[in-house]
Amino acid sequence: MNLIFLGPPGAGKGTHAQRLMNELGIPQISTGDMLRQAMKAETPLGLSAKKFIEAGELVPDEVVIGIVEERLKADDCKNGYILDGFPRTVAQAEALSKFAHIDVALNLSLADDVIIQRLSGRRVCLKCGGTYHISTLNGREDCANCGEKLVQRKDDSPETIQNRLSVYAAQTAPLIEYYQQKGLLHTVECDASASVEVNYQKVRKALGIE
Ligand code: ADP
Ligand code: ZN
Repeated sequence: MNLIFLGPPGAGKGTHAQRLMNELGIPQISTGDMLRQAMKAETPLGLSAKKFIEAGELVPDEVVIGIVEERLKADDCKNGYILDGFPRTVAQAEALSKFAHIDVALNLSLADDVIIQRLSGRRVCLKCGGTYHISTLNGREDCANCGEKLVQRKDDSPETIQNRLSVYAAQTAPLIEYYQQKGLLHTVECDASASVEVNYQKVRKALGIE
């Protein structure tokens, strides 16, 4: 199954994509994680992406399209993959359709006020991509999955969060319509007061996983 996860920042794309990766044994391909790793390693890609990411803007289409096209050639993508955070513009979706066959676009929706509260308390692991919220960490500072020290992303600051939401509405939300017209869209309304597990079961159901 070749999947796309759509939805605003903080809707839980990464969290559910990681669970699905473990359950289905197909890789989660997060352009955000790949770019942050490149930034941390100070590669040419990372250095060129940094100013866009820290401002909450999108990295140019041709850059991310190139990364994803290369990544999908890897052996571990043969039985399927989960694209998390790509495509994010109609131009990216058009490019993707030239080198990939997508089965489902899963749209995770969530109210704006919840998004802001989630992102501003988020802590992430730059090594494995794990994400946490301060409210459930109980003072813990390392990743429960790999032991790496957790950090707060620079773009999870209040001003940048606002900008990311505007960028999402202007550039990414049109993809909902785009995939609807292709007959590939499934939407899951995430319930912010319910547990991750409950929402994950909704995701599974939408994908027809028994
Ligand atoms: P979130 O879903 O929390 O907003 P991501 O980790 O997916 O965060 O992305 C973080 C940042 O990385 C984005 O704000 C953007 O600058 C950049 N980025 C990630 N994926 C893409 C993409 N497909 N196109 C352009 N920029 C991207
Ligand atoms: Zn980790």
